[in-house]
Amino acid sequence: MKLLIFSTLVLLVSCSTPAPKVSSELASSDMTPQRSLASVNKVEDLEQVASEMVFAPSEEKAMEAVSEQINGYQEAYLRTHDYLKKFDADLDHAVENGETFELAKNNNYQRILVLWDIRTRMRDKVIYAYFKAMKYSQSRDQGFASKVLSRFSKHISALTSAEKRTVGDLTSDLKKVQDFFDSKPSAQDIARVENGDVSWIFEKVEGRTAEVVNKIQKAFPSQGQELLPSKKELIQEEKDQQEIDQMAKQLSTATTELSQEIEAEAAALEIESTDRTPQAVAKYAPSVGRTGNLTGSEFPANTWAITFDDGPHASRTALVLEALKDYGVSGTFFQLGSAVKAKPTLVATVAKNNTVANHTFSHPQLTKLGAAEVKSQIKRTGDLIEKATGSRPKFMRCPYGSGISNSKVRQAIADEGMIHVFWNVDTLDWQDKNPSSIVQRAMKQMIANRKGIVLFHDIHPQSVKAIRLLLQKTNDITQSGKGTYKWKSLPSIVQEMNAR
Ligand SMILES: [Zn+2]
Repeated sequence: MKLLIFSTLVLLVSCSTPAPKVSSELASSDMTPQRSLASVNKVEDLEQVASEMVFAPSEEKAMEAVSEQINGYQEAYLRTHDYLKKFDADLDHAVENGETFELAKNNNYQRILVLWDIRTRMRDKVIYAYFKAMKYSQSRDQGFASKVLSRFSKHISALTSAEKRTVGDLTSDLKKVQDFFDSKPSAQDIARVENGDVSWIFEKVEGRTAEVVNKIQKAFPSQGQELLPSKKELIQEEKDQQEIDQMAKQLSTATTELSQEIEAEAAALEIESTDRTPQAVAKYAPSVGRTGNLTGSEFPANTWAITFDDGPHASRTALVLEALKDYGVSGTFFQLGSAVKAKPTLVATVAKNNTVANHTFSHPQLTKLGAAEVKSQIKRTGDLIEKATGSRPKFMRCPYGSGISNSKVRQAIADEGMIHVFWNVDTLDWQDKNPSSIVQRAMKQMIANRKGIVLFHDIHPQSVKAIRLLLQKTNDITQSGKGTYKWKSLPSIVQEMNAR
């Protein structure tokens, strides 16, 4: 029965239906923020979602609670989709007019980053709610989790195909929750997830999911079609609108907060480009000051570092390593402690020809945490990397780049003996599913910046393809003499800069 439920979801994800109605008011800046982003992801909030479900007066009410979470997640994604288009238009304009393009100063880029954070938090809430539904199913109502999923499928059917692919990531996450329960977890395991450690579920079942989803897709082609909801069922309800309004409030607050961070970075870049000469370059070393943070704009001419965040991934990281090897390039992998813990052997393999760096344990927005939590996120990950590779990481990247102008965060990074590494080229490969447009976006920014740090993620299938295409493209241009792209390892670039 579980298989059938997922066949429905997977097939719905691949069907094409009309675009949904999206509120254009979402990003309006005159909305008064009532609830800050910081309050969204707290365990108490997750608990509230769960209790709304499990202790709701009716099952219908419980269903609504989960559905609202799912709507919110989708809405966050729809907004990033809009901003991605605007970002690309801004980039095209800059390239056509021969202007420089600084990420830190682009409004649409800031919005994408903020929504990325909101989306991650929403996803965790949905997964947690579904986890509770599974638990409720086990103890009281065998069918409850199935009903939650079938309601979810109605939301999916209202999305465009590009949007469905991303929501498809969520269905695959929910499948992991189901696998977790199928593996007959101990009461201790369940308690751990209930304490909010959602990412841990993924470690437990990583690798099995893709295979299972594949089998399901092949086995149930017709049932999925028959189970498509009618048009009538797709009509937006009032509560959906409320969720959207709530999201708008969060966005307004969070954009302001992150904008301040990014503006500080932009100011630092400005000082650098106007006041400094190559002869006056300071040594780059762990510190809370400007020389403890790299953006790529300080690199020697035509010099590039390729970086990968959020891994390692069970299958995709190895494919990225192959591409790098084929082109003789050494990359830097900013890895999550939670994933390092699950795959220490893979981390050791990455470290052979590449640099393994710190990206926190569970990808929080560090500026929202207390000093002790920040320290623990960083140190715990450093310990795990040292255990896997034999040496402590020398570089660190804050999730969402958030924390570079925050003294508490910067101090913790410097105390751990690391240089912070920002980026000046963002491929936005986590959102764009098309490898060739990812490469186009990267090339445009590289042309505008002439040197720097390129940001990819080694956890998405489209990224694996795009990385290869980009390395081939820069090779072709260099060989043809029409331009020069020198890919170097991050430690060697720092060494080179410190030696001049
Ligand atoms: Zn990240």
